Amino acid sequence: MTAHLTPADRPSWPRRAVVTAGMPYGNKGLHFGHVGGVFVPADFYARFLRDRLGRENVIFVSGTDCYGSPIMEGFRKRREAGGYAKHISDYVRENHDSQEADLASFGVSCDLYAGSALEPAVHIHERMTAEIVERLHERGKLTKMSTKQFFDPAAGQFLNGRQVLGRCPIQGCKSEKAYADECDLGHQFEPEELIAPKSALTGETPELVPVDNLYFDLPSYTEYMREHTERLAADPTVRSVVSKTMQEWLDAPRLFIQVKFRDEFEAVRGELPAHEVIEAEGNKGSFTVVFPTWRERDEAHEVLNRAGVRFRSGKALVPFRISGNVEWGVPLPEVEGCRDLTAWVWPESLWAPISFTRAVLARDAAKLEAEGVDAAELAERAVADAQLVDDAPAMIMDEPAYTHASLDWRDWWASEDARAYQFIGQDNIYFYCIAQSGMWEALDWNMRQSCVAANYHILYMGKKASSSSQTPPPLAHEMLEHYTPEQLRAHWLSLGLGEKPVSFSPKAFDLRETGKDSQGNPILARDDKRMIDPALKEGALLTGVFNRLARSAFYGVAVKEGDEAAYRTGCIPAGEPSEAARNAAEQAAIAFEQAMHTFELHHALGVCDEFLRAANKRWSDASKAAKNSGDDAAMNQALVDAFHELRVATVLMHGIVPMGCELICEHFAIDPVAFFSWDNLFKTNDELTAELGEQPGTHAIKVLPPRFDFFVKHPSQF
Ligand SMILES: [Zn+2]
Repeated sequence: MTAHLTPADRPSWPRRAVVTAGMPYGNKGLHFGHVGGVFVPADFYARFLRDRLGRENVIFVSGTDCYGSPIMEGFRKRREAGGYAKHISDYVRENHDSQEADLASFGVSCDLYAGSALEPAVHIHERMTAEIVERLHERGKLTKMSTKQFFDPAAGQFLNGRQVLGRCPIQGCKSEKAYADECDLGHQFEPEELIAPKSALTGETPELVPVDNLYFDLPSYTEYMREHTERLAADPTVRSVVSKTMQEWLDAPRLFIQVKFRDEFEAVRGELPAHEVIEAEGNKGSFTVVFPTWRERDEAHEVLNRAGVRFRSGKALVPFRISGNVEWGVPLPEVEGCRDLTAWVWPESLWAPISFTRAVLARDAAKLEAEGVDAAELAERAVADAQLVDDAPAMIMDEPAYTHASLDWRDWWASEDARAYQFIGQDNIYFYCIAQSGMWEALDWNMRQSCVAANYHILYMGKKASSSSQTPPPLAHEMLEHYTPEQLRAHWLSLGLGEKPVSFSPKAFDLRETGKDSQGNPILARDDKRMIDPALKEGALLTGVFNRLARSAFYGVAVKEGDEAAYRTGCIPAGEPSEAARNAAEQAAIAFEQAMHTFELHHALGVCDEFLRAANKRWSDASKAAKNSGDDAAMNQALVDAFHELRVATVLMHGIVPMGCELICEHFAIDPVAFFSWDNLFKTNDELTAELGEQPGTHAIKVLPPRFDFFVKHPSQF
């Protein structure tokens, strides 16, 4: 540890917090990347905040993104493959349940893992959608615009976004696929810009037909967004990738045109609206045409298309589409004469976490009413929302046994003393940081801008994990055939995905050739005894160091027949921890808290690693010396230190490896809420037991059976 930290170095936190994890699509199960890259980091954060702020002040929500054309496509294919006669809502329910069960098996602890089309959130989400659309309209921030949509004459129908395939027109885009008006990296463009469109239904080139849709006036927030981005760039808790990516979208609208089209361009230049040309630099093949706003740029499209000038668009703020005509979507209220539209899935999924928060609070309200609390004393909105819930199925994850500190969703999303922490993939910065920030500002509800933690993708065996590759990454539940959930949680959290893409290369799945046996047959990494399993590096901290410290402490004070030593009391030993132990624990706790504040989750784990190893060594040295000299007082001091450091380490590690830490808490025989609370973290065990109303030295621990393990290895690892 570097500089000496003092309590003045502790970061400050909001009173209430919402944690969200990017929503998986409802057309598939989860692969390890969803779990390790987004959900485990979010769960670590939520668990930490519950301990830090009090569990009733934290709501952790996520859920299945149920609507939209990818889901309809998945459902259509499933039906085409035969043997599936159920409704699309059954299809998403099945996928939702498989996702929730997988997340639960990794210890992910949402207050609600909902689904945008599923009970208990579905009708609350419809209400939220109507409220947001009506509010944006009331504020004059929605406009109807006519755009073109693909129509497949051979199939005789409109094509939804996913039924048109082509290449992304955004300059420099690295996407593998582009659809009617977005690519798989989330860039938006006009359908007429899509390069080489083909209908997924018939393989024919589709026609473009005009349709009306509602758009949010995102470009009018350009100035706001510039200031917001500057604030984020100066904020040490926000990764620079967030503000840099946002910055890219804030330039004036521009088109890139290849130099070979220069003559054709000059021929129609007089017809173009106001613009400025920036000549191609050096050996670059394109010159740039800059427009004052997106409107002039869009007008230019037509002129250039007519003249046969090909162009690509630069990133810029354009009106953000709110609606679509996909049948499987949240119905929209009639606005600006637009009827029978549904919400486009992207904006709808941005406010889905608010709908899910409302569903949690509605559940709390119903619970409190059932317990006899007068509805008039509860937040009106939550009581009204509770009436929208028809038949909520039981959660697969554990449902919280408590209710939350406020039942009004605005106290969580639109209050000075609340903050939303959103864990997303780095590809989605545009939506969460730009489109969402603009909409939140436009609502004028005092919405707080979220704190966004954008992680890079986990690579699999050194390559981009893609389910369509030759060695597809394992599904989340397949990982658990070779590793324990805690080994994987610790390993994923160590990767530092907030900083760069990192490879996950679990040996049990590694089919790369590492050599030949004596007969000349290839040996695969999986079977190669010389290979160390990188996925088990942090597991050794758990099953070795942490486990040993806990066992040493509990066995050390255990009553033992024939051993009359005074320190064998069967209780948490009384006494002040040594200066060294107390200082190490305090330094670790403050460094850990700072790392959490800046979203350096791997660093938080690193702090625990260093602290646990030092505590273990301190115990080992002190207990050996005491034993050799037969000094009972020295042994007692070693035990006091071990118990102090063990408790602090267990609280810090709680969000990383919750099951093992809760098992340690059980053996301290202290109520978990008091045990894990940061309000008690800087106290000594004497102070804590006194607070629990007991005399220091009299609090009995739960007896540990022989050869007990708090962190076990997976059966396949023996
Ligand atoms: Zn793209």
